Amino acid sequence: QMVWCQLFSEPGAGSDLASLSMKAERVEGGWKLTGQKIWTSVAQHAQWGFCIARTDPSAPKHDGITYFLLDMKSEGIDVRPLKELTGEAIFNEVFLDEVFVPDDCVVGEVNKGWQVARNTLSNERVSLSRGGGLGAGLPELLEFFGGRELDEAARVEVGKLVAQGQSIDLLGLRTTVKQLSGLNPGAEASVRKLLGVQFNQDVADYVWAAQGTSAVLEDMRGLSGKWARYMLFSRAMTIYGGTTEVQLNIIAERLLGLPRDPEPGK
Ligand SMILES: Cc1cc2nc3c(=O)[nH]c(=O)nc-3n(C[C@H](O)[C@H](O)[C@H](O)COP(=O)(O)OP(=O)(O)OC[C@H]3O[C@@H](n4cnc5c(N)ncnc54)[C@H](O)[C@@H]3O)c2cc1C
Repeated sequence: QMVWCQLFSEPGAGSDLASLSMKAERVEGGWKLTGQKIWTSVAQHAQWGFCIARTDPSAPKHDGITYFLLDMKSEGIDVRPLKELTGEAIFNEVFLDEVFVPDDCVVGEVNKGWQVARNTLSNERVSLSRGGGLGAGLPELLEFFGGRELDEAARVEVGKLVAQGQSIDLLGLRTTVKQLSGLNPGAEASVRKLLGVQFNQDVADYVWAAQGTSAVLEDMRGLSGKWARYMLFSRAMTIYGGTTEVQLNIIAERLLGLPRDPEPGK
């Protein structure tokens, strides 16, 4: 019923999100936000967005950030769609020019938005890797191969994918149980995201290849083009919600206790 968008990434702040530069200045009754966001999915359809901006430029980069809820109808917001590999325009550039956000739209404490954003990101990792609407997973794989004669080699490959899909679903179940008991999904969500999106890519690539030369003739705009779309769209999955390299860093540092990765640029 209500569409939200996530205004986090900026042209100079993706994996290193805390180096964001959108500024929020104190005004009577609230804040004025100015700057640019990018890759904002569904911003053109969203009624509300959650946005992080710098409220204290003199503080260390993780400390001067605040988390705002943004009414996308506010004056001063300019949304410009960007075209993706699939030919669709899901994500956007969003320009903010002195957009007023009232005090009651601040989530958590002023300058403590980084902690809120980290929580959003780990929950996002759980939902992004669930498959379903975004990519091809186990149900789509079974639907494609259901009732078909498979040779020995195909049986082994499809069987391998089904087993992987079930293991990944179980990891998801574990994270859900953790969330239901009130715990933050934390770094385990990165394991699920890492394996889940790789699985989505493997399924899309395998089915795409299994169609043989007829795959080349798929009309991407028609229904018959659904596997072409899965195959192309799945490229984005190892980028959004934190890239594969970033997930590996989180797993290495927070789950395996390996030394911290050096800060970018150092
Ligand atoms: C389809 C799609 C939808 C998106 N939707 C949204 C959205 O709704 N809202 C939003 O805020 N953002 C969104 N994003 C942006 C996404 O979160 C960023 O693209 C992502 O975080 C990577 O940032 P970047 O593109 O700036 O790449 P960079 O951070 O510049 O990374 C470039 C490359 O360097 C690697 N790299 C970076 N840092 C390290 C490191 N420390 N160690 C090893 N390798 C590293 C990365 O893995 C990557 O391969 C979306 C992206 C896509 C593709």
